Amino acid sequence: MKKIVILGAGESGAGAAVLAKTKGYETFVSDMSTIQNRYKELLDKHDIAWEEGKHSEDLILDADEVIKSPGIPNDAPLVLKLQAQGTPIISEIEFAGRYTNAKMICITGSNGKTTTTSLIYHIFKSAGLNVGLAGNIGNSLALQVALEDHDYYVIELSSFQLDNMYQFRANIAILMNITPDHLDRYDHSMQNYIDAKFRITQNQTQDDAFIFWNDDPIIKQELKKYGLQAHLYPFSALKENNSVAFLEDKELKITEPIAFNMEQEKLALTGQHNLYNSLAAGISANVAGITKDNIRKALSDFQGVEHRLEKVARVRGIDFINDSKATNVNSCWYALQSMTTKTVLIIGGKDKGNDYSEIEDLVKKKCSALVYLGLHNEKLHESFDKLGLPVADIQTGMKDAVEAAYKLAQKGETVLLSPCCASFDLFKSYEDRGEQFKKYVREL
Ligand code: ADP
Repeated sequence: MKKIVILGAGESGAGAAVLAKTKGYETFVSDMSTIQNRYKELLDKHDIAWEEGKHSEDLILDADEVIKSPGIPNDAPLVLKLQAQGTPIISEIEFAGRYTNAKMICITGSNGKTTTTSLIYHIFKSAGLNVGLAGNIGNSLALQVALEDHDYYVIELSSFQLDNMYQFRANIAILMNITPDHLDRYDHSMQNYIDAKFRITQNQTQDDAFIFWNDDPIIKQELKKYGLQAHLYPFSALKENNSVAFLEDKELKITEPIAFNMEQEKLALTGQHNLYNSLAAGISANVAGITKDNIRKALSDFQGVEHRLEKVARVRGIDFINDSKATNVNSCWYALQSMTTKTVLIIGGKDKGNDYSEIEDLVKKKCSALVYLGLHNEKLHESFDKLGLPVADIQTGMKDAVEAAYKLAQKGETVLLSPCCASFDLFKSYEDRGEQFKKYVREL
């Protein structure tokens, strides 16, 4: 019997184990940390052997194939040993793809993945299709393939997941944008990161679709290198020679495969970045044959995704918006750009080598005050104090930051949490940061 070892028992690993077991493999799961109870229960229910807090090398090196969690770096010592002895290492998505004929709609990019994935899922689901949501965002693809039976899967893919994909084929692949991120995992080489993102197109044939943002200078330049077979669906902010979707006369227009238009005003999601997300989602639904009415309706009644430009409350004429997921400067840029009133920006956290000059002009234009929220705010002082805006320096936590922002904001203005940084200095995660923001806003 073929032996499969799964490294990492999170959502994807536990799901892959269940699929491997149901397909008759000898299955073993190994996790260096503690496995969450719900995954232990799932593994036990399916009679799958597992270990936690260690890696038993003899068992692992004996595998015919290894499924690696995307969280484990490619240069982890055990991974290097497996590579050296020629053991194939694949991702959970690659493995699951072998056991389903469902149509795969896959989304990657540096920013906008979760929003676009959720929006596409919402359109497909509202149109009555039998669709599963998987990848970074949702339940394990492998688990759904093992236990459910969907006709379509909408899958959010990180570059780490793409790293270990080889034969998998996306029927519809979407590349939102490429800006520097996670370079520490790519030998500090932008080209390696770009190549990882473009893996979403590998194995695509003429019957498939590749949807991408045509205004992205990196995508534009790199596109030619990969000898793409798929039908191309470039989208852009404005009408361009080869774009098939864009904004024109305040309408979102898609020209292929079926002409589609919709007033921009009716889109549920606002802001320039969300126009791109709506265009990408609209094209994919159009390619999948969903009717215009269904696409229009779903693009207009989508509820949005938590922690992404999420409206929290209006308190005494001041709007509070939670964009805690803005963990890099580029996403804060889009958040600020979409603000329609003067804004008190809450910014700061664990800096990932940020270059704040990218948002300096927008801060000047849109902000009436700034709240620095972090254990180390020196770089924020250096970057923004020179603009002469009122500034509050908060190193204690979210409660004080919300109160400071409330004091600084005038009626008719907006308080925006869009931190540009990771959350790990004062919070457990970006979700925790966003939850705390909402809690203290509601207590005002
Ligand atoms: P991801 O899953 O790629 O991290 P999300 O959809 O969670 O992306 O959005 C993260 C942040 O990025 C949001 O807070 C928003 O400000 C910004 N964002 C969303 N869509 C885009 C886009 N198409 N281009 C640039 N920034 C975006």
